[in-house]
Amino acid sequence: MADGAAWSAPASPSTIDVDRAEAVTITWDDGHVSRFGLEGLRISCPCAECRGLREMGEEAWPRPGKPTVLQATSAGQVGNWGLNLHWNDGHTTGIYTWEILRAWCPCEACAAMKDADA
Ligand SMILES: [Zn+2]
Ligand SMILES: [Zn+2]
Repeated sequence: MADGAAWSAPASPSTIDVDRAEAVTITWDDGHVSRFGLEGLRISCPCAECRGLREMGEEAWPRPGKPTVLQATSAGQVGNWGLNLHWNDGHTTGIYTWEILRAWCPCEACAAMKDADA
């Protein structure tokens, strides 16, 4: 199936739509669409600080004393390889590479493919 090739070739987004209260939707250059809920993105933030927290068994979000209603305050592309999200809890260091985002795609087609791989 053609999708198999899309996994090995690095996909890049053709459009990125940020709904600051809900989700980031990426349409990839191969036509695939991925919609990521903000909380999932924040909890899985790939920066060193959040990785460290998770390694200690703590949640990267929500952190004590910070807003528990999550919003993305801004989003920007980093070079041609990733997306940087700024959050309303003041966290700004996470950069989500296209590769990570594509691998995290929560859609049914990708979930089925991950099941098939496992
Ligand atoms: Zn982080
Ligand atoms: Zn998908």
